[in-house]
Amino acid sequence: MRQWREIKSKHRDALVFFRVGDFYEMFEDDAEEGSRLLGLTLTSRNNGAAGRVPLAGVPVKALDEYLARLVKLGRRVAICEQMEEATSSKKIVPRKVVETVTPGTVLSGQLLEAKRNNYVAALAVAVAVAPATRATGPTGTAGATGTARPTGTAGATGAAGAGDSPEDPSLPVGVAAVDVSTGETTVVAAVLGELEEALARFEPREVLVSESSQALLSRAGHGWAASGDDSRGATGAAGTAGGSAGGPRAATGGPSVAGVVFTVRPDWTFEEETARDELVRRYRVQSLDGFGFEPGDGLLIRAAGALVAYVTEIRPGASDHLLAPRVLRPGSFMTLDSMTRRNLELVEPLRPGEGDASLLSVLDATRTPMGARLLRSWLLAPLVDADAIRRRQGGVAELVDDSATRASLRTALARVRDLDRLATRIGAGRGSPRDVLALGVSAREIPGLAEAGQELGSPALRSLFDGLDALEDVEALVAEAISEDAPATLAEGGVIREGFNRELDELREVRDGAQEFIAGLQTRERENTGIASLRVGFNKPFGYYLEVTKPNLPRVPQHFIRKQTLTGAERFFTPELKEWEEKVFGAEERIAQVEESLFRRLRQELVGTVPRMQRTSRRLAELDVTAALAEVAEAQGYARPEISTGFAFDATAGRHPVVETMMPREDFIPNDLLLDEEGRIAILTGPNMAGKSTVLRQAGLLQIMAQMGSYVPAERARLAVCDRVFTRVGASDSLARGQSTFMVEMNETASIIHGATERSLVLLDEIGRGTSTYDGVSIAWAVTEHIHERVGAKTVFATHYHELTQLGDLLPCVKNLNVAVRESGDDIVFLRRLEEGGADRSYGIQVARLAGFPPELLARARGLLAELEGTHSSGGKGLGRGRDAPKTPADDQITLFDVEHPVLDRLRSLDPDRMTPLEALAALHALREMAE
Ligand code: ADP
Ligand code: MG
Repeated sequence: MRQWREIKSKHRDALVFFRVGDFYEMFEDDAEEGSRLLGLTLTSRNNGAAGRVPLAGVPVKALDEYLARLVKLGRRVAICEQMEEATSSKKIVPRKVVETVTPGTVLSGQLLEAKRNNYVAALAVAVAVAPATRATGPTGTAGATGTARPTGTAGATGAAGAGDSPEDPSLPVGVAAVDVSTGETTVVAAVLGELEEALARFEPREVLVSESSQALLSRAGHGWAASGDDSRGATGAAGTAGGSAGGPRAATGGPSVAGVVFTVRPDWTFEEETARDELVRRYRVQSLDGFGFEPGDGLLIRAAGALVAYVTEIRPGASDHLLAPRVLRPGSFMTLDSMTRRNLELVEPLRPGEGDASLLSVLDATRTPMGARLLRSWLLAPLVDADAIRRRQGGVAELVDDSATRASLRTALARVRDLDRLATRIGAGRGSPRDVLALGVSAREIPGLAEAGQELGSPALRSLFDGLDALEDVEALVAEAISEDAPATLAEGGVIREGFNRELDELREVRDGAQEFIAGLQTRERENTGIASLRVGFNKPFGYYLEVTKPNLPRVPQHFIRKQTLTGAERFFTPELKEWEEKVFGAEERIAQVEESLFRRLRQELVGTVPRMQRTSRRLAELDVTAALAEVAEAQGYARPEISTGFAFDATAGRHPVVETMMPREDFIPNDLLLDEEGRIAILTGPNMAGKSTVLRQAGLLQIMAQMGSYVPAERARLAVCDRVFTRVGASDSLARGQSTFMVEMNETASIIHGATERSLVLLDEIGRGTSTYDGVSIAWAVTEHIHERVGAKTVFATHYHELTQLGDLLPCVKNLNVAVRESGDDIVFLRRLEEGGADRSYGIQVARLAGFPPELLARARGLLAELEGTHSSGGKGLGRGRDAPKTPADDQITLFDVEHPVLDRLRSLDPDRMTPLEALAALHALREMAE
């Protein structure tokens, strides 16, 4: 226990898996937490004078499975091994932590999702604000000037954070992200107010922050990576604040975000000098200029340096092969905040359990894991440069047209394994025989791929094939050395191919000969002894034996020596058998040594080729994605969108790429949508279930697909490049997040008002639904006016409030569209067809009828509606008539009954300023009586 305590004191933030024989044991708090997280039995261990300590353990054999679960839950695990064989003497075996497994730095194939990157990110902030000063920020600026944004932007709880003043949202932040398993390294400049958006494309599993910035970032961090995945949220926030010894694990003061584990690192690792040195050393360069860093990129360097230092500490081998950092500038990619990602269901469906209905699942026809990961990252960070988009499109187009080449490329790609991650594992000295074999098998496909791609001419594809390193030497090396059926681990033997090494071949011959001799012994000894059932066998601790059943024992000859007694039989050996057995064992021992050293030498040789594997892997990934997009384009009947640098969104016969796959193809009704300077805002009305949300999301998906370089589900499309796509969905869809849904909705809307530009595409779906009708209509109205006058973004506003259609008449660049329905009697038929003009009614009662409301209830509703509409059209003065008239619809009161209730008269006559409390109470009683 003393040994354990000493080790634990150095790994407070991790669960220590303490190797004891065939188990990894956890003690004390670790045991309690581990048993809870993993559902293990919590026992206790007698610790002499100190009493009993809690204990829980997992079998060594099941390590990977338990690690996978803990890592998924956002925990770190320090694996502490016995450094020597345990002996029978009482001496304590030395132990050491050989590896720390953290969510962001795992390498093992079992702990990684093949089709997505596994990023660890680091954040460096411009000024480290001491916690004491945090309350001094001016409150109330946010609304006043319109420049400040609520902290935490999308999904923020900004306003809910009682007492927390918003940090300056324009504070610069350096973001660095590394996928240790593939070596990809990216740095990007961000600002505090848009940190969530900057991190979103990486979907990091672990985020490093410095000691002094953790409080600041935690306050800015609400809503980061909010994936709506509550299973993760529950424990994902398990803070790992390095210094918080012992205390409760839920980080107090540290950032906590669902699905992300925060790791607090010492401040000095974030210092610019240290960080710069680290990068220069790690990348063996004289200066960082070659990476695209510029003067003033101090924060980027600080984040990258701190991150690389951490990776080196946790994964010494892997950090040797990190790829040179890519420096991204803000505005070099389309920004997609988490609300937009979620609402457009880009990579996962909005509600879990709805199958795999996401854009990614429709587009992902990739054949390799690295292709799948690249596709995902293209989807999360679409391009904004028209030429770059057209270049990608050109590659896709060529493979759409040349389906024969596409097919042969895809067939070969399907046999290529995860070259990125194989390279990293081999580079880190961890590649298993299977990994090396997989590398060889993959490399074998490359010459064929190069051959197939020979004739391709588009610049995008040419750049992939020209100078493609086919890794022939790697393939040859592996093919020569590694056996076709190499086992997963070295210990199983049979890794090295026959004919590769003379000594090994001889040893195997000796072993096989000896085994053959022993096998022949059975026949010979049966003859010698006359015992027909005598049998030669082998088992692990005892070795080879001759087995004779009980009834035959009297016939056993003198020179048989007893070895083991079973219930029905006895086992023997003979000096001869012993001799041959030793030959087998001796040869096997030596074989293992030779195999191991040959394998290690080979793997070492491969380490030098890791950068080449990485380069080839990236080319194959891009080829895979391009071919996949072409495949989907053809299979789904997509068209190549024309990318324009103008303003308009113009799609003819567009379809929703996901919804259309969920019904027979001809059932989906395509629709045209045009948003141009004259009609930049479309108010989209129609009853519930008409198809408003579908049309609206369709627009966002088309835009994003186009900017990825993909074809789009439309007959024809001409789309201007957008800087951002914003999608907000009113109420009810965010229930799981446990906040007032209306508050969420308003926060999200606010972030659009502040973040959108003329080049943005804004999609608002039923904004304002979360409050009373008049409130809702008023807010929606004002938001539309604001976007119209101040922002100028292309906007689709779907609403079932048909009142909003008046905006189409009032504002020059607003037009009305509706999703048509046909009425026949009490029934409505959804036509799913987009038409000019607004819907005149909500058809709620017809929809209720379709939902099976009883007839008498429907009749009553119809009666009330007629009454309300009567009042409305006779007395109402129309919404927002004239800019000076009060514009809120609230003053256009509709009373439920024609005659005003006397209680209102009485209420108006009261003057609270002149009433005593007693009088007020009496008046209240009187009012109540009247009301009753
Ligand atoms: P709304 O937002 O108007 O209430 P939705 O967009 O949610 O309506 O559409 C409701 C359902 O109608 C969708 O789930 C889909 O099944 C179907 N639908 C929508 N648009 C189309 C279309 N263009 N063609 C065929 N079915 C559609
Ligand atoms: Mg809808």
